[in-house]
Amino acid sequence: MNYQKSLLPYPSDGIMLLKGSFVFSKVLTLGFQDSCFPEHAQFLQEYLETVLGMEIILSAGSDNPDLLITKRKELLGEEEYVLQVEPQGCRLSSTSWKGIFTGLQTFIQLVNSNRTLQCCRITDSPALSWRGLMLDVARSFCPLEELLGIIDAMALYKLNVLHWHISDDQGWRFPVDGYPDLVSEDRGYYSRDDINYVVSYAEKRNIMVVPEVDMPGHMIAALSAYPKLSCTGGPFVIPTGEGIFQDILCVGKADTIAFARKVVDTLCSLFPSPYIHLGGDEIPLDRWATCPDCQHRMQELGYKDEKALLGWFSNEIAAYAREKGKSTILWSDYVDASYDPSIITQVWNPLLGKHKRFHSNHQVIKSDYFHSYLDMSYALVPLSRVYRYGKSVQKDRKQNTKVLGAELLLWTEYLNTREKRESHLYPRLLAGAESFWTKDSKLSYTRFKRILTHDIQLVSDNQNNVNKPSIWDPLLLEQIKARRARKKRVTANSKEAGISL
Ligand SMILES: [Zn+2]
Repeated sequence: MNYQKSLLPYPSDGIMLLKGSFVFSKVLTLGFQDSCFPEHAQFLQEYLETVLGMEIILSAGSDNPDLLITKRKELLGEEEYVLQVEPQGCRLSSTSWKGIFTGLQTFIQLVNSNRTLQCCRITDSPALSWRGLMLDVARSFCPLEELLGIIDAMALYKLNVLHWHISDDQGWRFPVDGYPDLVSEDRGYYSRDDINYVVSYAEKRNIMVVPEVDMPGHMIAALSAYPKLSCTGGPFVIPTGEGIFQDILCVGKADTIAFARKVVDTLCSLFPSPYIHLGGDEIPLDRWATCPDCQHRMQELGYKDEKALLGWFSNEIAAYAREKGKSTILWSDYVDASYDPSIITQVWNPLLGKHKRFHSNHQVIKSDYFHSYLDMSYALVPLSRVYRYGKSVQKDRKQNTKVLGAELLLWTEYLNTREKRESHLYPRLLAGAESFWTKDSKLSYTRFKRILTHDIQLVSDNQNNVNKPSIWDPLLLEQIKARRARKKRVTANSKEAGISL
């Protein structure tokens, strides 16, 4: 068989083919050398049973199991693994469980491609340590079952960060003590049990869940339930569709600061990740300019303008999160040298960053909208463009070690059904995943497309939701038309919100 046709992401150090072959029977035996990784043994058995659809028997480890898990003594990279197929069985080894789990995905793809494996040795490690998917569940609620399916797909293709955009103008999706009206059954939300389940489900699959509550802008859903947290007192109606809205949190009011802290408390209690994302993008400051409370706060602090007040608020909340052991991530829109250097910035609009050179002080996660916005049509963000993105981030990372990695983003203003979300995700999620994992010298779009077209079983239960090859890379004319339409829409939104682009 030709391994090059079946592995995705392709291994960073390639595949060394060896003599001989190994044949699987209908049942797979699984062993752990010296009882290593005991806390994961049962999960791994169940996981393989589900993913491979075959019976998995735990063996004592001394009788040449089909797959032997080994803990290496020498230190490998955090997710690095070695997978060796020998005539007597397969051996998967790593220093860490993370390495075992990522290597397991390679093993699964090998077994799924053929039950007779040519002997080989694969040494593999990721190019980027932060390989994320941002999922917006605020604009359109994503039911739990669908969300778990997305996590499964992320695991299969070795993505390791789920950036969970869990509130926005159009919806608030998790409970906060003392603020019961933020959520309602009708609108859809995740209970504490749901969130615990998602976090644990993802963690077992080597995926860290980083929650995002965007503040002080993108808050209409919260303000509609608690208008007193705004500058004007409302009333507010939860909007639908896209837009930038002028009403934001009033940072002049003590009640609002208490609310923001309570939100951080809640995120800290629900999410074990050392990171929380506090948004900080698209914040029209007009309300603060005419609000007596905000103006009073500004004078008290000795600031000359509302932008400085925004910097104060962001630094205050980040400091509060830091006391609780969390690093804060903010969208890069307003972050400059006055922001605490421990804040990590996420770049969505590279044109803003070009002039500010903000990332000289801060660590950076890259997700620019020309390459990583999967909610856009394939005419705007073709498959080939997503594939190129990881390569450029890898280059940035070589020049600047403050670049942590990259994310793909799925905003859902217009993706209000599972079918639409999946057709936008797949197969672009796979293109991003390979380009984030596989080292640039081994990336090949030609090989990637061949795998997609011929060999790989795509990830959705409903293959009809996966886009067809004919639209993955549309003609230039279609791309030009789509870009014009998009520019028109963005300009109209910004005008309405009083933001100049
Ligand atoms: Zn105010």
